[in-house]
Amino acid sequence: MNDCLFCKIATGAITADVLYEDDEVLAFRDIAPQAPHHFLVIPRRHLSGPAAIGSDEEQLFGKMMRIGAELAEKLGIGTGFRVVLNNGAEAGQTVFHIHMHILGGRPMHWPPG
Ligand code: 5GP
Repeated sequence: MNDCLFCKIATGAITADVLYEDDEVLAFRDIAPQAPHHFLVIPRRHLSGPAAIGSDEEQLFGKMMRIGAELAEKLGIGTGFRVVLNNGAEAGQTVFHIHMHILGGRPMHWPPG
């Protein structure tokens, strides 16, 4: 998608603080962190959001979760982190390229806002 911000980060056209990358998945720090550690895990391939995951993406989605958990461990928040996926503007999604938020390093409260 030509006008997609996270596609541009995935290709390197826009820089980000990248924590992990391979041919399918990229993880980078959120530009406006909501916790001491806040990073995003995305597939390189454009998918608009969680509701766009089909059977072809099940393995990729599992890989995104594994990479997020491994990075959380590496950053020292492996025992307590939150995973957030917003689907749709009503749920707070602002970038329409699926991304898994991983947040940690402070106490988390429930319910989320
Ligand atoms: P959403 O609200 O769609 O679930 O989350 C989008 C996230 O992307 C937000 O937390 C926002 O701070 C982050 N974000 C928006 N633009 C950029 C950017 O240019 N670079 C990085 N690293 N994060 C961004």
